[in-house]
Amino acid sequence: MRIKFIMLLLCVFANTSFAQDAKEKYVLVIHGGAGTILKKNMSAEKEAAYRAALTLALQTGYKTLTSGKTSLDAVEATIHILEDSPLFNAGKGAVFTHDGRNEMDASVMDGKTLMAGAVAGVTTIKNPISAARAVMEKSEHVMMVGQGAEVFAKQSGLTIVNPKYFYTKERWDGLQQAIKEDSIKTVLDHGNKKTKLGTINRDYKFGTVGAVALDKSGNLAAGTSTGGMTNKKYGRVGDSPIIGAGTYANNATAGISCTGWGEFYIRNVVAHDISAMMEYKNLSVADAAKAVLDKVGKMGGDGGLIALDKLGNVTMPFNTEGMYRGTVTADGKIEVQIYK
Ligand code: ASP
Repeated sequence: MRIKFIMLLLCVFANTSFAQDAKEKYVLVIHGGAGTILKKNMSAEKEAAYRAALTLALQTGYKTLTSGKTSLDAVEATIHILEDSPLFNAGKGAVFTHDGRNEMDASVMDGKTLMAGAVAGVTTIKNPISAARAVMEKSEHVMMVGQGAEVFAKQSGLTIVNPKYFYTKERWDGLQQAIKEDSIKTVLDHGNKKTKLGTINRDYKFGTVGAVALDKSGNLAAGTSTGGMTNKKYGRVGDSPIIGAGTYANNATAGISCTGWGEFYIRNVVAHDISAMMEYKNLSVADAAKAVLDKVGKMGGDGGLIALDKLGNVTMPFNTEGMYRGTVTADGKIEVQIYK
């Protein structure tokens, strides 16, 4: 009887403290890419479609977390929704390489064990984030590329599709435009420059998706998935599948997923640098993320990132016009934002 009473008291106490924490504690944060996203260029229908897709991704991840599954499960389930949507540059909406292929990269990291997995340059795996997870959990390696990664994904029971699955007209047209611009040698300038062909689309480097989750056991996980950069050549790989650059998670600090001009994110080892600043300099997640993004900006790179720390503090800085992004708090409140 006494034991039952004490247990009841403990339950009441646990619920109360959860309810008190719940207001400000974030459990899931996502991005759908940063770039020149301006309200004036966005139709009402398109904006609604983006908001709906981001909301569905957040709802899916939140449901996964509240059902008691791990942060890794939530990251994977959330990113599946974004990969399956043609709106984002990952999975179904991946951009085209110079050769007219869709070559995707993805990575995932478990903040509890510091285990990580990644794939790069894959063309037939429907959900590259699941292949990254399979590499982490079912192999002794961290990263697999190209055909080898595809064979491994198939052996792991993942859905393999005809590369045609990844075709979308919008991305194909984007490639044709990029090739035209490339031929007049101005696309390398990475700016919104007026040319004979009109405005160069600096968003060729953006649109990646990512998620960071914090589960009921206090474990963090982060994942990122991308088609990379429109018109990319020669087997180019960006930051997204590189652990420490585009993705990092550590229960001692934070989970981070980046989007932006990958070459700058690799050179600044952005995701790990944020974690290191928190660990070695005791900075908050927001201060660390800002300091690292400032470094990227000073070097000439642009983009953004999402980060969630072990206490449920979130930050989503970017130095572009906009970034598709959203959060869920422990009490289930969803917020989606696009512009500055
Ligand atoms: N960071 C990605 C890359 O460089 C692009 C993006 O974020 O959209 O491949």
